[in-house]
Amino acid sequence: MPVIVNLEIQTRKPVEIVDITNMIQEAIWKSDVTHGIVLVFTRHTTTGLIINENEPNLVEDILGHMEELVPRGKGYKHDTIDRNAHSHLRASLLLNPSVALPVDAGELQLGPWQRVMLVELDGPRHRKVTLMICPCAREIP
Ligand code: ZN
Repeated sequence: MPVIVNLEIQTRKPVEIVDITNMIQEAIWKSDVTHGIVLVFTRHTTTGLIINENEPNLVEDILGHMEELVPRGKGYKHDTIDRNAHSHLRASLLLNPSVALPVDAGELQLGPWQRVMLVELDGPRHRKVTLMICPCAREIP
């Protein structure tokens, strides 16, 4: 049976990248699923998920580049009702709300530099990320 886990993440800045790899790995260990897929899904319209290297300069580059591509307050229509159009646009045009990852021997199968990171685009806020940890049969009969 799949196991559903809700991660609670308090972000601290308006725009921020939070490494959630260890939280996901711990949830897998607790789930007893040893072989399968974990779906990671952020339940917000102004966040996204990325899998990349958590290196401080690269993190700054990613956030800076998003700001360059989708600047704040550029006369967006949504800003007339809620002043965060740039956050929604960055989330929908540049990022995805979910990632799916392979699990084997109870371990996330990531490359040596890959980390799973939540991108906060309209913080600080309390955020929820849902994990669906799904076992798969090791061999197809
Ligand atoms: Zn909004």
